[in-house]
Amino acid sequence: MDRIVTPVSRASNSLWSSSRTSSSKKTPQDTYDVAIIGGGFSGLWSAYHLNKLDPSLKIAIFEAEVLGFGASGRNGGWASSEYPVYKETLKKRIGSARTAQLFEALDGSINEIGVFSSNQKEVGFVKSGSLYFARNKAQLERLKAKVDGSSYFLGANEVKEKLKVEGVLGGVFNPICATINPFSLLNSLASHLERVGVSIFEGSWASPTHGGALVNSSFIAAPVVVQATEAFGSPGREFIPLYSLMVATEPLSDSIWNEIGNPERFTFAENSHMVNYAQRTTDNRIAIGGRGATYPFGSKLKTSKESTAKVHETIRALLKSWFPVLRDVNFTHSWGGAVAVTRNWEPYVQWNPKEGFGRLGGYAGDGVTMSHLSAKVLAHEILDKDSELRKLHFVNSRIRKWEPEPIRYLGVNALVKLSGIADKEERLTGRASLLNRVIEPLILR
Ligand SMILES: Cc1cc2nc3c(=O)[nH]c(=O)nc-3n(C[C@H](O)[C@H](O)[C@H](O)COP(=O)(O)OP(=O)(O)OC[C@H]3O[C@@H](n4cnc5c(N)ncnc54)[C@H](O)[C@@H]3O)c2cc1C
Repeated sequence: MDRIVTPVSRASNSLWSSSRTSSSKKTPQDTYDVAIIGGGFSGLWSAYHLNKLDPSLKIAIFEAEVLGFGASGRNGGWASSEYPVYKETLKKRIGSARTAQLFEALDGSINEIGVFSSNQKEVGFVKSGSLYFARNKAQLERLKAKVDGSSYFLGANEVKEKLKVEGVLGGVFNPICATINPFSLLNSLASHLERVGVSIFEGSWASPTHGGALVNSSFIAAPVVVQATEAFGSPGREFIPLYSLMVATEPLSDSIWNEIGNPERFTFAENSHMVNYAQRTTDNRIAIGGRGATYPFGSKLKTSKESTAKVHETIRALLKSWFPVLRDVNFTHSWGGAVAVTRNWEPYVQWNPKEGFGRLGGYAGDGVTMSHLSAKVLAHEILDKDSELRKLHFVNSRIRKWEPEPIRYLGVNALVKLSGIADKEERLTGRASLLNRVIEPLILR
């Protein structure tokens, strides 16, 4: 098991980070029951669930930078029931019953995040669903295939009643998705944890070691260490970092929103090959993100990827093509961050009781809800508490390795490029791109 963690540094320009309140400087004690490395959702939810199961535990969280420095402070705020592997593929892998158990668990986690956020207006939690829409026939056919027990199809006019997207042909609405301000959720979580006695140390670079963790080079003893560093973990072949980039508009006027719709604040996206995701924020902006940045050779994190100008421009153009009324609005923020993707696109939760070492991650861009669920499972594993969740298929499962370089670099970036080309072709022709035959097996999800 690889236990080395790479150092990180620099600040993000995320829309959400302005809402952050800083914690005071403290010095860690010599010993804790649990040392958690990483101050994102995985780390904080791990502390939350451990504390809930056993409030007497002395827990410390060590974050190299500031809380929410990673993807947790930069994401699109979809607390969705989406899983990185398509539902149909998953059914083939693990069967219908276990697939259903997973999606129930995800819905349960969304609801628990909702209960946690219920008195925190600034989190802006609203479970008002997600809308995927199609703007060409190829997208429409793929969308229809996505309809399942939890979602339903909408014709073009029904979509327009909800969201007035230019050129829309149809959509699929899934009520099981909530919108949040991710940084505010993280802040609320941190405040809660400090109230119940969890110690949080920012500016504390840590690495797991025998019997505890090295924190800024000092040894801290802890029989249990949790690594919650997701894409920042050691870039071996267990996962690769992929970049997701976002932009945000200025707050939009009521007259613009009247032309767009969506007073309910459901999340929305076009069903293109290029992953994209948007939300209406509590202060009436649109925050929208998408993929398209290339994969860095050797899985080495590269800050420059977070600000790939071409991708930010593509996302702005995509949004304006949905809503031409936005043609003259200002975009006030642009940023990005890395997510960790395993070879079979499955997240991991691993607990090794002999070593007292646990880790979680690999959410491939679906980590807002998954981190809550994974942390809950890990807490039950660590404390050996009964829970049906421990039977979820990704718990303690083997992580399949990515191909060695340069095959990995060539394969992943070919996929990124082909997805963009296939989208352009489908927009022009309206027919499913022949490239899909190449893309689908490459994605393997
Ligand atoms: C732009 C973007 C948009 C996204 N949108 C969505 C979305 O809408 N919905 C969704 O479900 N998911 C989304 N995701 C994914 C989601 O944000 C992540 O899956 C999730 O936040 C991962 O949480 P985490 O705590 O595991 O990792 P992170 O939030 O990345 O936290 C890891 C932390 O570990 C710290 N760290 C690293 N090394 C060390 C060390 N040695 N010592 C101490 N600390 C260390 C880092 O500084 C970091 O703060 C998005 C991601 C990005 C980048």
